[in-house]
Amino acid sequence: MVVIGGGVVGASVLYHLTKAGWKDVLLVERAELTSGSTWHAAGGMHTVNGDPNVAKLQQYTIQLYKEIERISGQSCGVHITGGIMLAGTRERLDWLKMAKARGRYLGMELEIISVDEAARLFPLMDKKHFAGAMYDPIEGHVDPYGVTHAYAKSAQIGGAEIVRHTRVTDLKARADGSWDVITDQGNVHAEHVVNAAGLWAREVGRMVGLELPILAMEHQYLITGDMPELAGEKEQLHAIDFEGEIYIRQERGGMLMGTYERAGVPWSPVTTPWDFGQDLLPNDLERIAPSLEVGFAHFPALGAAGIKKVVNGPFTFAPDGNPLIGPIKGLRNFWVACGVMAGFSQGGGVGLALSRWMVDGDPGADIWGMDVARYGDWTTLAYTNAKVRENYSRRFRIRFPNEELTAARPLRTTPIYEKLKAEHAVFGDYCTLEHPLWYAPSAAQAHDEVSFRRSNSHPHVGAECLAVRDGVGLLEISNYGKFDVRGPGAAEWLGRVMANRVPAVGRIALTPMLNERGKLIGDFTMCRVSQDRIFLIGTYAAETYYLRWFERHLPPAGVSVRPCAMEYVGLSVAGPKSRTLLQGLVRDDLSSAAFPFMSFRRMEIGMVPGYVGRVSFTGDLGFEIWVTSEYQRALYDLLEAAGRAHGLKLFGGRALNAMRVEKSFGTWAREYRPIYGPFEAGLGRFVDFKKEAFIGRAAAAEEKDSGGALRLLGFRVDATDADAIGDEPIWHDGKPVGWVTSGAFGHRVGASLALGYVPAALAAAMSGFEIEIIGERHRATRLAGAAFDPTGGLMRA
Ligand SMILES: Cc1cc2nc3c(=O)[nH]c(=O)nc-3n(C[C@H](O)[C@H](O)[C@H](O)COP(=O)(O)OP(=O)(O)OC[C@H]3O[C@@H](n4cnc5c(N)ncnc54)[C@H](O)[C@@H]3O)c2cc1C
Repeated sequence: MVVIGGGVVGASVLYHLTKAGWKDVLLVERAELTSGSTWHAAGGMHTVNGDPNVAKLQQYTIQLYKEIERISGQSCGVHITGGIMLAGTRERLDWLKMAKARGRYLGMELEIISVDEAARLFPLMDKKHFAGAMYDPIEGHVDPYGVTHAYAKSAQIGGAEIVRHTRVTDLKARADGSWDVITDQGNVHAEHVVNAAGLWAREVGRMVGLELPILAMEHQYLITGDMPELAGEKEQLHAIDFEGEIYIRQERGGMLMGTYERAGVPWSPVTTPWDFGQDLLPNDLERIAPSLEVGFAHFPALGAAGIKKVVNGPFTFAPDGNPLIGPIKGLRNFWVACGVMAGFSQGGGVGLALSRWMVDGDPGADIWGMDVARYGDWTTLAYTNAKVRENYSRRFRIRFPNEELTAARPLRTTPIYEKLKAEHAVFGDYCTLEHPLWYAPSAAQAHDEVSFRRSNSHPHVGAECLAVRDGVGLLEISNYGKFDVRGPGAAEWLGRVMANRVPAVGRIALTPMLNERGKLIGDFTMCRVSQDRIFLIGTYAAETYYLRWFERHLPPAGVSVRPCAMEYVGLSVAGPKSRTLLQGLVRDDLSSAAFPFMSFRRMEIGMVPGYVGRVSFTGDLGFEIWVTSEYQRALYDLLEAAGRAHGLKLFGGRALNAMRVEKSFGTWAREYRPIYGPFEAGLGRFVDFKKEAFIGRAAAAEEKDSGGALRLLGFRVDATDADAIGDEPIWHDGKPVGWVTSGAFGHRVGASLALGYVPAALAAAMSGFEIEIIGERHRATRLAGAAFDPTGGLMRA
């Protein structure tokens, strides 16, 4: 096994592989260790991350330093100073309260403190600029050189080999899936290759025909002259000032201050020069002057101390700022561990997850937020450039739950985009596809006022929900993921990959997809078109993730799986009047007797050929209509014209979300993730144990017997002006016991609702629950079933 790259990430991967028991492992480094971003990093580390699963891996990384110091005898230069995050606005304080709440169920001891308390802990700040702060005892910094060498030495002690001054120049796949690693010092034959080439990860990717969505940005920090304020024994805390978009910490007798400026500049946007090594880039203080100005006003002593040194170095980012790790669809035994922008908080967790994946076939944790497969082939170089610049400039900005980012938009649109825009649709960006979130009454109102609380879209989303529940609504569903599974072995193969039985021709079945550990790695709708063809519907964001899994399990012949994301686009009509509306346009009998719930059939809708499924994610009587994209405009016109007589109203993704929460329907990446089993998630009835073999069967049977460790529950929350959005703690009898996965206002039932997991021991508890929303605990009444139509009678009617 060969790891390419001896930065902090490659060294961590190497260490973790030896720890997992692999001995025949080699790291190849083109210069000295740390010769990319690593050597000039500021070395800061912290546990807080917007994704709780990434936060867990950050906690792990920080705890690991003691272990590698002990094994290697190499100091990591760990300084745990504690840190404060300073809020200058009420919104930021709300954000901190939410971060603190998330930290509760992760076991983090975060504390919201007053400005006075913050100033006592961090006397360099000028109180007048701030509204409050959050204190985190586990923050600090390390020595980047020390950490990398501690990983490397520990790996060598574990049996790894490291060669320096050797550049990998090419990679050639052999027919058996192994690799010839071509270097300027000779070749190595390896069973597995890991691309941990940091600043050159793109170049190494290109050796195997891969364009990884990463881009390096220039990043500057400065170190002040010595300051009399720092003469004491105790080291200053780390601090993040969100308004100034800066981070600061003590560096010997002065302070180090770095900034993620708005006008960030990409470095080497197309190719990274091979002769760049332990180099720095020319300073450009002009560019960060606005941040420095705020910084010196907020921390006046720093301004007085003068600037002793400036560092400008490049490091890489993925479009969303999270790492890219895992195996690559279409390539055997090729792994990536790159795009790691916070190597000293995340490097350990990245190494752990990747090594488990390589050794056990599974990352062992929920790393969806870091999985390279969260990106599809829509990440062009220019797209990545626009999104990375946006992400960099927003590093310390709040992302509100209803905030849609604007870079690289609009990129992909469906044929009815302009028509929906003319109806005042407010669009969201879903994997670069524009899809309607809600409809405003006028063009002037067609925008989101960002907020953690119910916002300007609330009443309009409410009107959309009621129109569906009482009459009929029209939703664009093109942003679902679709796969065409064909061949004489298609049904048998799907029966093995999916937990539920494959439906009969003309029928639909919902199914979880499980990994060998019996955990949820997907949820699908299987629509049986014919004996040897199944139209599979799932989550579009996970298309590459699913394809990678399918590819691993496909037989050599007899089955083909084709993603047909934008080839088939769709519209759904839902609500009690949807049948009457659609019946007027098709020759087929849509009565429940002739076309019952969960039927699927090719139909002609007027002149438009398509497939119609009798199913709706809103939980109403409803139909999903799939057509090839050239027909979508005609289909829309037809439905819209016929719908006028029935009061048809357009509805968007926000209303859909509210209605599926009202029905307690889960969704991928929220209720369904690889940390949950099907019985925990309430999907047990979709696991067919009558089948003798399917992936995850044994583990699922065990979970069925034991009941699993967790339980997904639904709640009605006594919330006032803000609903749960996800990741809020669930309390029981005064203790945080679980977390929310989704929340919304249920407009039909007139209540704030939430779904979330609690320990299985509380599965029978009917009272004593609370949900914390923006720092306030609200009584949460456990629901016995779905809030809306718990018997499901309406959708079957
Ligand atoms: C100014 C600055 C400040 C920063 N501050 C912080 C901070 O406070 N906290 C934090 O966590 N992170 C910080 N970072 C980010 C941090 O540096 C990165 O997250 C981290 O270094 C990424 O490590 P890596 O191993 O992925 O990549 P790199 O460090 O780039 O390592 C890649 C290695 O691969 C080698 N290589 C590449 N191609 C080949 C090849 N073909 N053959 C052989 N070898 C090859 C390179 O020589 C290099 O040594 C900062 C970065 C900068 C620039």
